[in-house]
Amino acid sequence: MTVTVRFAPSPTGYLHIGNLRTALFNWLFAQRSNGRFILRFDDTDRERSRSEYSEAIVEDLAWIGIQPDRVEHQSRRIALYDAAAERLKAAGVLYPCYESAEELERRRRLRRVRGLPPIYGREALKLTEDDRRRLEAEGRRPHWRFLLPNFADDPFSPRRTEMSWNDLVRGEQSVDLSSLSDPILVREEGSYLYTLPSIVDDGDLGVTHVIRGDDHVTNTGVQIAIFQALGLAVPVFGHHNLLTTISGEGLSKRTGALSLRTLRDEGYEAMAVASLAVEVGLSGSIEAAPDLDALGERADLSAVSGALSKFDPAELDRLNRDIVHRMDYGAVAPRLAELPIPSGEAEAFWQAIRANCAKVADAALWADVVYGGIAPAEFADDDLTFVREAFELLPEEPWDGETWSVWTSGVKAATGRKGRALFMPLRRALTGLDHGPELKELLPLIGRERALARRP
Ligand code: GLU
Repeated sequence: MTVTVRFAPSPTGYLHIGNLRTALFNWLFAQRSNGRFILRFDDTDRERSRSEYSEAIVEDLAWIGIQPDRVEHQSRRIALYDAAAERLKAAGVLYPCYESAEELERRRRLRRVRGLPPIYGREALKLTEDDRRRLEAEGRRPHWRFLLPNFADDPFSPRRTEMSWNDLVRGEQSVDLSSLSDPILVREEGSYLYTLPSIVDDGDLGVTHVIRGDDHVTNTGVQIAIFQALGLAVPVFGHHNLLTTISGEGLSKRTGALSLRTLRDEGYEAMAVASLAVEVGLSGSIEAAPDLDALGERADLSAVSGALSKFDPAELDRLNRDIVHRMDYGAVAPRLAELPIPSGEAEAFWQAIRANCAKVADAALWADVVYGGIAPAEFADDDLTFVREAFELLPEEPWDGETWSVWTSGVKAATGRKGRALFMPLRRALTGLDHGPELKELLPLIGRERALARRP
């Protein structure tokens, strides 16, 4: 069977780096197995779902390099969920409940006082046909619960029922169905909560592997029971740990924290973001992967830590620098095209400055330093005399990679200066800065005319 995974965001905000972790674990898993990746929008919550967010999600995934094989919207598949709900009702495992939220809360409190677990006591199962008619006549509409298979003959005497699976990340897992309330699948007004549509779609779309955050571990026990009740093949599950901010808070699409949009706008490279999203919390050090194929080799689900992983922005800066320092000219050429670099020089310019860029956008600063006007440096008297004398000795053009050493050897012979006392005043005069790319490479780009104009 073709390996088929799905990434199932609700379009209620922009993707953040934690969502990307889930998307990439799925994508890389599918790539490794020559499988298919489905992007499924869990948009049954009409109030909070927005098409601008689903469009943004497609765009943000494309920025990372993820192209779904298929895109589905749950809001367009309601008929399938209706049919499944009818089948469950006919089988007697989806039953109507009329309690209000307040009634349920009161019962929970009562159970606690009696030392019982605060789960739903299935009181609605005791309603007769007449009771239901009376309640409906009062204007009450039912919500619908799935009857968990956690009893032998009497649903009011649940007994320990372990639902087990071998998790791709966490190994043997098991959830005791008698510790849970029968889940509500359909709300009073007829809309679906996440659970049933997710299962129906996983079945209908032939999903073989469900890889998601470990906030869904308990759901999995329930979902397996519903897969079975519907006669659907149960997929393999894998639950990875969640990312938090450095101060330990969870990430949320609604707050926009660490959204892919923001990171992209701040000038981070997609592969820096992708590498961190996947590698944080794996055993081994975090390294910038040059592309998704290379990242796939590191994305070993069985190596994911069980604990929460913190997202450290300093790591992202480090990875970004590593990527930028190694970036070939071809990868940045379109972005350099916007800078005022003389034609034919852009490649040499990039080679000269890339090791001094934390982000590709820093190239603009260096383009200013090389080709624009610089703020003239201030010199003490002896340095000023020295620099003026040095500028008298600037070689004639053409200039190349040897010009700096030819020039500075001449200056050294004429003035007796050497080392830092020789180089630093020249760097400051030529660039206005006391740090920066190798002058051996910058000097030919600055050229004789601009260099002379910078003579203090
Ligand atoms: N929409 C759900 C979520 O974002 C999907 C969970 C799942 O993958 O089953 O949490």
